[in-house]
Amino acid sequence: METLEKNISVQRIAQSKLSEVDMNNIPFGKVFSDHMLVARYKDGAWQRPEILPYGKMQLAPSLTALNYGQSVFEGMKATRNIKGEAVLFRPEENWKRMNRSAHRLCMPQIPREIFIDGLEELIRLDSGWIPTAEQGSLYLRPLYFGSDEFIGVHPSSEYIFTVFTCPVGPFYAKPVDLLVSKDHVRAVAGGTGAAKAAGNYAGALFPDKLAKAQGYNNVLWLDAKELKYVEECGTMNMFFVVDDTVLTPQLSGTILEGITRASVIQLLKDHGYKLEVRPISIYEIQAAHHEGRLKESFGVGTAAVISHIARIGFSGEDMILPPISERKVGNWLKSQMAAIKAGEAEDTHGWMHIV
Ligand SMILES: *Cc1c(COP(=O)(O)O)cnc(C)c1O
Repeated sequence: METLEKNISVQRIAQSKLSEVDMNNIPFGKVFSDHMLVARYKDGAWQRPEILPYGKMQLAPSLTALNYGQSVFEGMKATRNIKGEAVLFRPEENWKRMNRSAHRLCMPQIPREIFIDGLEELIRLDSGWIPTAEQGSLYLRPLYFGSDEFIGVHPSSEYIFTVFTCPVGPFYAKPVDLLVSKDHVRAVAGGTGAAKAAGNYAGALFPDKLAKAQGYNNVLWLDAKELKYVEECGTMNMFFVVDDTVLTPQLSGTILEGITRASVIQLLKDHGYKLEVRPISIYEIQAAHHEGRLKESFGVGTAAVISHIARIGFSGEDMILPPISERKVGNWLKSQMAAIKAGEAEDTHGWMHIV
């Protein structure tokens, strides 16, 4: 074991697996890079983080996270800018959000030195795994869970924070078809919808399967109380363009606070777009569609950044949205976000973090 400057110990892989991967043809989510970060919390304190070869962990079936879902995660990407530097997009925001999720699930806060410094050291060590901009990106998965071997329902006393990474090809964001669900909800007021808690995603699998069986890609969730207000879809926050006004739901405690969402709102404000952040009724969207005023809809999130919505199914009707080539706002945001990440457009808000 060697120790890095940042007080992280490193055990390097004997033989890198990088040469086995065809970076021009990466199967999604199945290829993992050489190393992972692991930090353990026990006896009320964080232990020194380690970087280890990526591999299996020995875990007991009595694990708190497996039995009661005390587990939260993050999703981020490392990309290369036009200078070839490895860059992260607003990583501090992911760190803060993971700690908000942790707070909701009664888990200790993760120090900056572990989340940010650990992530940086891991990316430096595996920098060869970051695809070029044409090839894709390195997806980063911070994962944090309770690791007590005890079957009482109570907060774990031991935890594992880990980060593993996988190179992924470019997200050819195909336009997405959404089905509004009135039978299922994702989150309720006072619940865990605003946390990136593992259980939220398990709960969405069944409604999602029903939507897929009907030929849609994902569910468009409504609020749980009135089954009327648009919340979000899949792992994306929602935007609509009605006439020349951009609409997005305000954060209500049940919607995941997307970092892409916050960035998109900022860009729209910077460039003088008409923007309304408020409750948006699905009936309002339907009426706008009938009147020919619904020009665009898109979902935003780390994976595809901006995904145009092609079709929204709601109470037996399919709202078919205008052709992608006519989507002024969504297309502009897509190119603007890409240009900022590539270092081609000025990073006026200091979003890009060079590793
Ligand atoms: C992660 C996520 C988002 C998008 O958040 P980003 O920070 O933009 O990636 C939106 N909704 C849900 C449910 C999510 O899990």
